[in-house]
Amino acid sequence: MAKLTVSDLDLQGKKVLMRVDFNVPIKDGVIGNDNRVVAALPTIKYVSEHGGKAILLSHLGRIKTEDDKPGLSMRPVAERLSNLLNKPVTFVPATEGTQLEEAIDKMQDGDVLVMENTRYEDVKDGEYVKRESGNDPELGKYWASLGDVFVNDAFGTAHRSHASNVGIASNMSQTAAGFLMEKEIKFIGGAVSNPAHPFVAILGGAKVSDKIGVIDNLLDKADKVIIGGGMTYTFYAAKGMKIGNSLVEEDKIDLAKEIMDKAGDKLVLPVDSVVAEKFDNDAPHKVVEGDIPDGYMALDIGPKSVAEFKDVLKTAKLVVWNGPMGVFEMSNYAEGTLEIGKFLGTLSDATTIVGGGDSTAAVQQLGVADKLTHISTGGGASLEYLEGKTLPGIAAISDK
Ligand code: AMP
Repeated sequence: MAKLTVSDLDLQGKKVLMRVDFNVPIKDGVIGNDNRVVAALPTIKYVSEHGGKAILLSHLGRIKTEDDKPGLSMRPVAERLSNLLNKPVTFVPATEGTQLEEAIDKMQDGDVLVMENTRYEDVKDGEYVKRESGNDPELGKYWASLGDVFVNDAFGTAHRSHASNVGIASNMSQTAAGFLMEKEIKFIGGAVSNPAHPFVAILGGAKVSDKIGVIDNLLDKADKVIIGGGMTYTFYAAKGMKIGNSLVEEDKIDLAKEIMDKAGDKLVLPVDSVVAEKFDNDAPHKVVEGDIPDGYMALDIGPKSVAEFKDVLKTAKLVVWNGPMGVFEMSNYAEGTLEIGKFLGTLSDATTIVGGGDSTAAVQQLGVADKLTHISTGGGASLEYLEGKTLPGIAAISDK
């Protein structure tokens, strides 16, 4: 069933609790990259412009001791938000108590307030009590009491049951998805629940063990599953091929065999690789077909594989991509990932979805992100969503 979204709500004069994902990289109080704050702006602006009082909650990093707190205050993020919105934003250096409650009481329609890092609640009086990340029922109830409605726009934490997402939602009569969350549900949720066909999944990255749940689930739904990246060579080993010094998970070779048996011709493996003498951009390297020679490790897919993958992809109506085709961080082994990314950008009849984590970094670094339909903002959350799991943060959003 479709989920309630922020545009379904009457926001005028309401205290709107909003779970956003402001988990930005931060060092010595300086924000490294504010993409996540920028991504949250549409929902925040919408609430404010529709007369809601936006009360923002987010976690920032991990807090296990009192010493972790000062470096992970939400204050600099609130300041950045104020700059981006070009209007004042109230920052409250507390996650509960009179200071917070009074600041909320003083809000006018359209105002924006940011409270302190929700994970400050994980450490109380020096003790690691995990009130936020353990979903303490009292904390969710308390936060819920501060607002009239709840909007969850933090997809990145949707796979976790925390007080600031599931806890609040279970104490509210209405929880709606923000625009970011709505997009993730539409594209990633849509791909696993009701995919268009032909549906091609491209799964790469380092390890079979990280992606096994996704491979398993998508083999049931997709018409083809293309494998690339380091995990290719565990499949090569399972086929009895030589892998040289390539990455391999010995304890997953049997599993790779099972997957191949189940998949039949649905599974598409690279036929050639770029191999190098060392894990080094400047190491001597060359393209080989099939077996990886002794003394070499495979660090990218080769040009024949790129051509074969393109051939499989060209008629697709839906493509989900998770994990790079090679060591894209090094220029000599980035070609496979770049070629596939560029090609996806030319598929004008297909919905093209990048499923978070390293693949998101890859398409951004390679400059192809704006040609694709949807780039997920979640890492762990998108993997679990692609595995077909129910994400507690999404389950807690009201149905329309
Ligand atoms: P993941 O987080 O599982 O998506 O894996 C991403 C990482 O896999 C990137 O840092 C890549 O450099 C790495 N990777 C991709 N292909 C290979 C390969 N053939 N050998 C070693 N590492 C690889």
